[in-house]
Amino acid sequence: MSNITAYKCKSCGLIMYPYHDRCLNCKKREFEEIEPSNNGKLLTFTIIEQLPWGMDERGRILGVVEFDNGVKALGLIDVEQPKLEMKLKRGWGTVREIGGVKVKGLIFEKA
Ligand SMILES: [Zn+2]
Repeated sequence: MSNITAYKCKSCGLIMYPYHDRCLNCKKREFEEIEPSNNGKLLTFTIIEQLPWGMDERGRILGVVEFDNGVKALGLIDVEQPKLEMKLKRGWGTVREIGGVKVKGLIFEKA
């Protein structure tokens, strides 16, 4: 599993992932790096029936997960019947292949 880093604004405390140059809330530029916790809950999800970018299977689920420490991240949801608020744990794996190159990303499974 690879680590992902989120950024906490030193001025207002907003947590952002991925990185932005300026805080989305107060526009300051100083951040503290934090690591998301391993578990979170599913905030929202979409089922994608037709995959636009080089994935050969159908019906993948993309969702936004809020980790226990407040970090939010988008990733694949590897659960057959996702429900809002369900507990998930963070994993890391191949999410797609482009021209034979595997692209890694966040994959969430049932906690
Ligand atoms: Zn801020």
